Amino acid sequence: MPFGLQPTHLVIIAVAALIIFGPSRLPEIGRAVGKTLKEFQSATREATQGFTDEVQKPVEVRKEEPVAQVACKSCNKFINAGMKFCPECGAAQ
Ligand SMILES: [Zn+2]
Repeated sequence: MPFGLQPTHLVIIAVAALIIFGPSRLPEIGRAVGKTLKEFQSATREATQGFTDEVQKPVEVRKEEPVAQVACKSCNKFINAGMKFCPECGAAQ
């Protein structure tokens, strides 16, 4: 059962509904409960999907944006932008 709902809970809810509303209104109430559960399930699915998107987003951004590279002023080899000295030839940038 989803949402930790046990069949015994459903029985208790059904009995409580029977006492509160009476047997004549039960089919009507059953439909309303079914509709609510269905809406709740789809809302939960959307929330889970949104959460999954949020979790995956930073990984994708990291892949799409590698460290910027610039050519060394001395040896012209590509080094990471922002480096003070070239790791290839040691020249100050
Ligand atoms: Zn260099």
